[in-house]
Amino acid sequence: MSEQGLRITDQRKTLAKLFAEAEGYLTAKDVYDEMGRSYSGLSFDTVYRNLRVLHELGVLEQFVFEDGIKFKVHCQEAHHHHHLICLQCEKTYPLVFCPMDTGCKVPDHFQVVKHKFEVFGYCQDCRTEQQT
Ligand SMILES: [Zn+2]
Ligand SMILES: [Zn+2]
Ligand SMILES: [Zn+2]
Repeated sequence: MSEQGLRITDQRKTLAKLFAEAEGYLTAKDVYDEMGRSYSGLSFDTVYRNLRVLHELGVLEQFVFEDGIKFKVHCQEAHHHHHLICLQCEKTYPLVFCPMDTGCKVPDHFQVVKHKFEVFGYCQDCRTEQQT
């Protein structure tokens, strides 16, 4: 399976560029549609696998919205962080706080592997808009 001779590293470079140019989020479908224009024969599975790898590498961050999973470029924040997400414009702001560090009581019999914590609200721009 050579994916039309396109190397994995080239695909990931293209992906990284796509996200760098995108404003906000891209879904796997968006990426697939976009990359399909340049690379024929690319499978959705391959696109999805690449997204997951880039997520694991910390290049992308993954967000689970009600209408599906979306990806965006990783925040400037290098350390473990969570996000404030604007319900209006969907912009995200890093939140350097982790509820797991502040005495979150997990029963002993449960081994924690990962966690999610997201805070939704309105950013300053959207709040100003609402008031006028
Ligand atoms: Zn982030
Ligand atoms: Zn907003
Ligand atoms: Zn955390």
